[in-house]
Amino acid sequence: MIRKASSVVSCIQKAENILVAGHIMPDGDCISSVVSLSVGIERFGKKATPAIDWKISPNFKVFPWIERIKGFDEEIPKPDLIIVVDASSPDRIGRFENFLRMGVPSIVIDHHATNTYFANECWVDPSYSSTAQMILDLLRLMDIEYDRDLALMNYLGIATDTGFFRYSNVDSSVFQAAAELVSLGADPDFVATAILETRKIEELFLERDAIDNITLLSNNRFAYSYLTLADFEKYSLTDDDFTGFVGELRSIESVEVALFASEARSGEAHVSLRSKKYFDVSEIAVAFGGGGHQKASGFTLKYEGDLKSALSEAVQMIDSRLQNERT
Ligand code: AMP
Ligand code: MN
Ligand code: MN
Repeated sequence: MIRKASSVVSCIQKAENILVAGHIMPDGDCISSVVSLSVGIERFGKKATPAIDWKISPNFKVFPWIERIKGFDEEIPKPDLIIVVDASSPDRIGRFENFLRMGVPSIVIDHHATNTYFANECWVDPSYSSTAQMILDLLRLMDIEYDRDLALMNYLGIATDTGFFRYSNVDSSVFQAAAELVSLGADPDFVATAILETRKIEELFLERDAIDNITLLSNNRFAYSYLTLADFEKYSLTDDDFTGFVGELRSIESVEVALFASEARSGEAHVSLRSKKYFDVSEIAVAFGGGGHQKASGFTLKYEGDLKSALSEAVQMIDSRLQNERT
């Protein structure tokens, strides 16, 4: 860790104007990492621009510095260094990939095992729970001073990427990192309330539709479901408003693999995959052009016709792998 993190620090030292880019469909880890690293770089005496080519969910609006995150259409000075965080491949940063194509020197800081090592300098370590935990180690190495707001922002990604300290990526280092940030002023209750307890009633109605669509296969070890564009439109919601249902599917006692697909627009769906104990869902995600972790992955599916038929190839792949196992 120290060697890779040190080379990141020396790149930052040499640069003046740094773009910190997160991934499309940003989650808590992405937003936490983009903002915490940008603030850290500024406290290090350099210019930093936090950037995400996607709408930021209203849940995150209560967090400090969120309004500073630039979208692609806003004016952005040409950076002399781009640091990509929490993204396993360059397409994940949306149109900010243009800067990589233009040859701007690049760094990636990421914890996905499926990372494609697409930057000039790659600090990729799947043993970390979250990119936010890597950022904490990096900012410590840079001797950055933490106030309550920075502690809160950095804590956000560790909490969300571990399912609030429940997933198999939790080890003692996660609790140590979280404890340190809480002692610096991060408020766990504020984060949990902002993320988990701000649901609209319509989201529960949508959940009812998603429950109606559940199919169980492979002797109930595989559960999948989906929501179409029409389902979202019925409640004036978008797929960005409805996350986490794949976790509900995995919570079924008999289930090892869960798949949930949401139609973002006609002919395009985001597919989320989860496993409970041993199945490597990242292999499925990579087969469909996506990526992620062994127990949490995703991909974007493009198709003609209806979502349910479009899903059948992935569904069959998972089903046949589970059927072929000796149990
Ligand atoms: P999600 O199901 O969207 O919560 O994503 C689960 C994990 O898979 C996260 O670590 C994502 O970064 C990763 N992931 C999701 N979608 C994609 C994609 N289209 N390409 C690569 N990785 C993805
Ligand atoms: Mn992420
Ligand atoms: Mn992450």
